[in-house]
Amino acid sequence: MNAPASPHSLMPQLSLREVPQALIDALQTRFGARCSTGQAVREQHGRDESALVAPPPAAVVFAESTADVAAAVALAAQYRVPVIPFGVGSSLEGHLLAVQGGISIHLERMNQIVPTHPEDLTVTVQSGVTRKQLNVAPKSSSLFFPIGPGADASLGGMCATRASGTKALQIN
Ligand SMILES: Cc1cc2nc3c(=O)[nH]c(=O)nc-3n(C[C@H](O)[C@H](O)[C@H](O)COP(=O)(O)OP(=O)(O)OC[C@H]3O[C@@H](n4cnc5c(N)ncnc54)[C@H](O)[C@@H]3O)c2cc1C
Repeated sequence: MNAPASPHSLMPQLSLREVPQALIDALQTRFGARCSTGQAVREQHGRDESALVAPPPAAVVFAESTADVAAAVALAAQYRVPVIPFGVGSSLEGHLLAVQGGISIHLERMNQIVPTHPEDLTVTVQSGVTRKQLNVAPKSSSLFFPIGPGADASLGGMCATRASGTKALQIN
C-alpha cells in the first residue's frame, strides 16, 4: 500500500506548444544567468512529488522581485507561451508539469516578510516565504500560522493548491 508509485508518463495525452528561441533569447537578455536552459535545472522544475512524468519546461527564470515576475510573464505572453510558477516543488498532483510546454518561474528567492500588523492579525509576505520561515521570523513572533501540510511549502504554493492539513479548520 505504501510502495512508491511507479513513474507514469503523460506523453501520449500531451499537445506541447513550441517555445520559440526568440523568447529564450529575450529572457536571457533580461535575466542573464538567472535564466537557465540547463537540462538538470529544467528537469528539477518539471516535476513534483507525484509519479507523473512530462517533458520539462524550456527554461527556468529565477525571479527576485515583482518586476522580474512581471517581465517574465510579459515576455511569455508576447510569444503565447505558458508560464508555470514554482514554489518549493512539493505538490502531489502534477501541478508543476509543463503539460503544454512553457517556462518555469522559480519564486523561492522572493522570500521577504514585509510589514506585519499584529493588531490586525496580518502579515504581508512575498510568495516564496515558507510556512516554517514565517513561524520563526522575529517580525511575526506575536502571530503564528497554524496551517500545516506535510511539506515546508511556500505560501504562494499553498494558496495555489488550497493547502490544508493538520491544525486546519474549515467552517462552512
Ligand atoms: C509529505 C507531504 C504531505 C502533504 N500533506 C498535505 C495535507 O495534509 N494537506 C494539504 O492540503 N496538502 C498537503 N500536501 C501538499 C501541499 O499542500 C503542497 O505540497 C503545497 O501546498 C505546495 O506548495 P509548494 O510551495 O511546494 O508549491 P509547488 O509544488 O512549487 O507548486 C504547486 C502549484 O502552485 C503553483 N504556484 C506556486 N507558487 C505560486 C505563486 N506564487 N503564484 C501562483 N501559483 C503558484 C504552481 O505553479 C503549482 O501549480 C502535502 C505535501 C507533501 C510533500
